[in-house]
Amino acid sequence: MTRQTILVTGGAGFIGSHLCLRLFDEGHHVICLDNYFTGRIENFGDRYQELLLSGRFEWIRHDVIQPIILEVDQIYHLACPASPVHYQYNPVKTIKTNVIGTYNMLGLAKRVRARILQASTSEVYGDPTIHPQPETYWGNVNPIGIRSCYDEGKRVAETLMMDYHRQHKLPIRIARIFNTYGPNMSVNDGRVMSNFICQALRGEPITVYGDGTQTRSFCYVSDLVDGLIRLMNSDFHEPVNLGNDEELTMLRLVQAIEAATRRPLKVEHKPLPQDDPTRRRPDLTRARKILGYEPKVSLEEGLKKTIGYFEHALGLK
Ligand code: NAD
Ligand code: UDP
Repeated sequence: MTRQTILVTGGAGFIGSHLCLRLFDEGHHVICLDNYFTGRIENFGDRYQELLLSGRFEWIRHDVIQPIILEVDQIYHLACPASPVHYQYNPVKTIKTNVIGTYNMLGLAKRVRARILQASTSEVYGDPTIHPQPETYWGNVNPIGIRSCYDEGKRVAETLMMDYHRQHKLPIRIARIFNTYGPNMSVNDGRVMSNFICQALRGEPITVYGDGTQTRSFCYVSDLVDGLIRLMNSDFHEPVNLGNDEELTMLRLVQAIEAATRRPLKVEHKPLPQDDPTRRRPDLTRARKILGYEPKVSLEEGLKKTIGYFEHALGLK
């Protein structure tokens, strides 16, 4: 393997921190760029000193809505808040991050002829009318709703990526990431996994939005990172779904967390947020065929590791 200089935007966030460590462990020079809106240096935990002293790990505090000049071989562009609570906190900023931020990273990639991977999302399918969702599906997205700053922002980002590919022959990769979970999610992240697990560990009622029959398919973070690296190192420029295709309802997720924490849980129903997708499961045919991708971590195993992490994060262990 030849050592590459790799930029990870959003590198101090949940997925970004795992990706940075994996790339570092593969021997690369890693530049972690973040504005620390939802990311934290603490996500590098007890490896911080080692990274600092290695001479091939750098942290840059920067906001991607401003251009930056760097010399890199690859760019994983993850910078963007991912939890509805965080991306709806300042929706105009979210859309600027997705559109201007991606435009800036594409400009950087074009200047140095770097390969660039966009962290897109299953949200580009909106509330899907086709199930499971293949990459050929164009989606069912509300352009003016409260999720639009994220969904439509990510759709424009995909358009920009494809136009830079067609117009400037830029080597691009587009990962459509489905719900991912694992250690380094913030306690206050607001997404379902962190909410349910923290509520269970604190002995609080589990806040199920709506009747809990809506579905998602949850991917453990190490599987997702494996897929991102496979995609980056492939020669495929069209979108690829990455995730886990085991689908479950939110009520079933409560049961799985009940079994994993060995505590009886009480459910408290809350209103379903506007435009909350009803069903979601990736069609992984393309990822399997082109990347040889296969999620390996079962929900049971992933929950065990994630619960262990949250026990520490909440100071319970
Ligand atoms: P996260 O919020 O933990 O990480 C996002 C990171 O980007 C944070 O470190 C944040 O501080 C940083 N950031 C946000 N705006 C920025 C800006 N303007 N400039 C620089 N840095 C900025 O979320 P995550 O779950 O790790 O998601 C990472 C990426 O993957 C996001 O692009 C997200 O849209 C995508 N994604 C995640 C999931 C998932 O389930 N986790 C699903 C689909 C897509
Ligand atoms: N959800 C829930 N309780 C919570 C947080 C989320 O029931 O405390 C539901 C939410 O309405 C959605 C699903 O869990 O149907 C996944 O939500 P999340 O915010 O994790 O991700 P996304 O909706 O972006 O897939």
